Amino acid sequence: MISLYRRRLVGAALALPFTSGAWAQSCGSATPRETEGPFFKIDSPQRITLIEPGTKAPKLVVSGQVLSADCKPVANALLDFWHADEAGDYDNRGYRYRGHQFTDSEGRYRLETIVPAVYPGRTRHIHVKVQRPGGRLLTTQLYFPDEPQNPRDGLFRPDLVMRMSDRDRGAFDFVVV
Ligand code: FE
Repeated sequence: MISLYRRRLVGAALALPFTSGAWAQSCGSATPRETEGPFFKIDSPQRITLIEPGTKAPKLVVSGQVLSADCKPVANALLDFWHADEAGDYDNRGYRYRGHQFTDSEGRYRLETIVPAVYPGRTRHIHVKVQRPGGRLLTTQLYFPDEPQNPRDGLFRPDLVMRMSDRDRGAFDFVVV
């Protein structure tokens, strides 16, 4: 049995430039897992921005921290993101809207991308795999608040919804074991 500490990083949140919105998540319980889906590809490029030149899709910045179950920032955690493009399609030949990065010394990440389009059968979402060095691989999905399709998507979970401080700015903190 893993001992879990239910503390909140209230003080630390004030010092974090990427998490200036409401600090909603308490650490202590691991971020829920979700299905990988059919479109994951290994060997995504390492990059912060997935924005394709010339895209007219709305831009989106997602940022936050990777935390351990005892609320400590995890440096060098891997985050591998993939999502649908502006037409609701995944790039299964190349690596458009696919990329991985590592958290900084304070466990922070920052993804620059577009708002993925909705495709049939799913609400709007971003896929991600997160792994701390030597830890278990977490495969999950992030959701957007107030999407009309959220209540109709069987995979949707309210605890995987990003905190949006603006239409183009989301935040989510992952808790990994
Ligand atoms: Fe998907």
